[in-house]
Amino acid sequence: MLWSLIKIFLFFALIAGASFGALELLALEGGIRIAIAGQEYSLTPLQAVIALVLLVIAVWLFLKLMGLLLATFRFLNGDETAISRYFDRNRERKGFQALADGMLALASGEGRLAMAKAARANKYLDRPDLTDLLTAQAAEMAGDKGKAEEAYKRLLTEDRTRFVGVRGIMKQRLAAGDTDKALALAKTAFALKPAHEETQDVLLRLQAQGADWKGARETLKAKLKHGSLPRDVHKRRDAVLALSEAKGVLSEDSGIDGQERAIEANKLSPDLIPAAVMAAKSYIEQGKPKYAARVISKAWAARPHPDLAGAFAEIVPDETPDKRIKRFRALTKTNPNDPETKMLLAELNIAAENFPDARRALGDLVETQADARALTIMAAVERGEGASDTVVKGWLARALSAPRGPQWVCDNCQHIHAEWTPTCDNCRALDTLSWKRPPQSEVQALSSAAMLPLIVGAVEDKSDEAVAEIDDAEIVDMNAADGQVNS
Ligand SMILES: [Zn+2]
Repeated sequence: MLWSLIKIFLFFALIAGASFGALELLALEGGIRIAIAGQEYSLTPLQAVIALVLLVIAVWLFLKLMGLLLATFRFLNGDETAISRYFDRNRERKGFQALADGMLALASGEGRLAMAKAARANKYLDRPDLTDLLTAQAAEMAGDKGKAEEAYKRLLTEDRTRFVGVRGIMKQRLAAGDTDKALALAKTAFALKPAHEETQDVLLRLQAQGADWKGARETLKAKLKHGSLPRDVHKRRDAVLALSEAKGVLSEDSGIDGQERAIEANKLSPDLIPAAVMAAKSYIEQGKPKYAARVISKAWAARPHPDLAGAFAEIVPDETPDKRIKRFRALTKTNPNDPETKMLLAELNIAAENFPDARRALGDLVETQADARALTIMAAVERGEGASDTVVKGWLARALSAPRGPQWVCDNCQHIHAEWTPTCDNCRALDTLSWKRPPQSEVQALSSAAMLPLIVGAVEDKSDEAVAEIDDAEIVDMNAADGQVNS
């Protein structure tokens, strides 16, 4: 408001000044005389001032015109000027609009629409990093794998977008089940971005699957270094990998290296049962029975396991059953209430033909946690004490229908493994196997329902047939339980 008033005031002042000036000029005597080509013009002072103003305007117009001509000339020559800038801005605006529309389409799950928008954005924008990325993701969503791969490959050419391209192609190869190519790409991606957690995990999984334990240990180290793995988990996984490495080396028959690895794995994670067993065997081979006994006792204290007992027996293979019971006290005194310890002690006493002690060692296991092995041991105790065949068969029949006891079960997918492996055979996860009771399977339910009357009522020669129909693994398990420590 005030500004408008000032403007009006200034306008009137200017008009007044100009009129005053013109009047003054009119009142002046004389003028300007200009002679051009023999012609003479005489101007009054007012006319001279007007002529001067007109001349200034003419020069200004001329200069402007020259500038425009020059700009047009340059534009025609392909040079960037105001004209092309104007058009560029327009194209850019359209391009970014298409890009934004494409991203919205992608977010709302419309792959085809996103692809169309990406193509439009690509037409208007010179930003291949953005448009190719949108194209790749849209094509993936629309299920056009070929087009997605083309776009990812274009992303490989620039430093800034290379990782995204490698990761995109790697995921495609993984989805197609081409693990060799995926592994090579994962290695490239890892080299580009060692701190990228997803890449670390993919690489580790592929290396473990491909039994590249050395490489997997390197990756694991990088995971620890970049903070994507807690230190204790790293230690445990590293032990698993070192053990796998040891197994690989042992199968290639270069003993010393494998022994070192096994011992290293055991040191990294003393409670890793297969590592303890392997380390103990290495020590036995090196003639260090005390070391062997120590690693087994340590692992037994963490988790009793029949393989540990087996390895402990191997330290002195040809001792009398009574001496063996005495020597095994190093194990049986720790974790005395664990079913595994109870069964081990019972088995040792059976081998020594001390059946009352075997029954005492077993305690109430057949009532509280009756699995196939405990019931089989009970049958052996009954037989040793001279019970009738009917009683012995009764226990054995119960053993057949009983749960199988702890197994190597994958925590991830509950798949049961006959032997410990670093990666689950079913879901391929690393270090997910634990020694525990698996969920009751249908095989057991079937055998308990169908086999019981058959076996209990069976005569000697028919029982073989009946047993043959039951899951083979179960028989193996029972036999193993029977001859556990004697072997
Ligand atoms: Zn699994």
